[in-house]
Amino acid sequence: MNKVAVLSGDGIGPEVMAEALKVLDVIAKKYNHTFEFKEGYVGGIAYDKTGLPLPEETIQLCENSNAVLFGSVGGPKWENLPPEKQPERGALLPLRKHFNLFANLRPVKIFPSLSHASSLKQELVKDGIDIIFFRELTGGIYFGQPKKIAEDGKSAVDTMAYKEEEIKRIAVKAFEAARLRNKKVCSVDKANVLMTSILWRKIVTELHEKEYSDIELSHMFVDNAAMQLVRWPAQFDVILTENMFGDILSDEAAMLSGSLGMLPSASINESGFGLYEPIGGSAPDIAGQGIANPIAQILSAALMLRYSFKLDTEAKAIEHAVADTLSANIRTRDIAGESKGVKIVSTSEMGNEIISRIK
Ligand code: NAD
Repeated sequence: MNKVAVLSGDGIGPEVMAEALKVLDVIAKKYNHTFEFKEGYVGGIAYDKTGLPLPEETIQLCENSNAVLFGSVGGPKWENLPPEKQPERGALLPLRKHFNLFANLRPVKIFPSLSHASSLKQELVKDGIDIIFFRELTGGIYFGQPKKIAEDGKSAVDTMAYKEEEIKRIAVKAFEAARLRNKKVCSVDKANVLMTSILWRKIVTELHEKEYSDIELSHMFVDNAAMQLVRWPAQFDVILTENMFGDILSDEAAMLSGSLGMLPSASINESGFGLYEPIGGSAPDIAGQGIANPIAQILSAALMLRYSFKLDTEAKAIEHAVADTLSANIRTRDIAGESKGVKIVSTSEMGNEIISRIK
């Protein structure tokens, strides 16, 4: 039995999660699987109910599950809480740390039928973009110590730190993925300035020479990578990078696809346990209106099937159904664009359209 901890969180989280669960129910029936879903509180709603953004019961629920399907957390209501009580910092970061989810996979795919929604010129994206980021997720400047504001409030420090093993294990994941794709890895760093990046480049290069010389490896400085992503995104296949660079670059790359509501992500550990979530936030500006795009949440469920449950056929069935729905010109408002002939649907209608195409 595949046990899933369902943490919908705040804002549009519950609305888009409902559609992902509907899709998983259909997959379970069609392919004869049993998924057990158990819901838990996380983020702002958890703070309201228990005083903590990540209550102990939620950690227990995740520990007793094979995967976590996560919605999104946060919103204006909780912005002024102390840092450790804030939904994102107090829930998502500790959850990643607790389960040692060191590898963050962020696919950025442009569906041909949506290339018009890209923020780039048509000629740069019309042949499709298919990039996957391997972002180191549990080290670097978000976790390094010391991290504090001085008592007089006039200075502050964050620490970027990396160890050899932390670099190596994410690089292994990226090289392994590249072997199943176009055998190209671009490792992004800032080795002209940062000591952690000099170490990063050395470890990645050594690993490549020893075990992955069949893969084409290139190195790029992060500032150049930010430019290249908008100049010529089709040059990239697998992008390997550290925590903060990956956070920023993958959000930039998200705009290539036209909407934050389209992109899923997976954060996994050595044992295959993973947390699956859309890359966007809780979108408080549209929450409760039934107009959010559920595709990122639905594709996150597909990633869960592939990486934690090893159900690749079922994952592909969902991904093809999403592509077919988009080809049929069915859109939520965020991806409707200016084009004529599209049918604009609500969050739950989009879920139903995708379900009707799961063959
Ligand atoms: P956001 O991603 O929530 O929203 C940015 C824009 O994208 C908004 O205009 C929103 O309407 C749109 N958008 C996002 N997802 C969409 C979807 N599925 N369908 C249609 N449109 C969508 O980012 P933000 O406004 O910077 O943050 C809002 C809150 O979310 C903040 O509290 C932030 O801390 C939190 N946040 C949470 C996560 C997470 O839970 N992983 C990630 C990022 C931000």
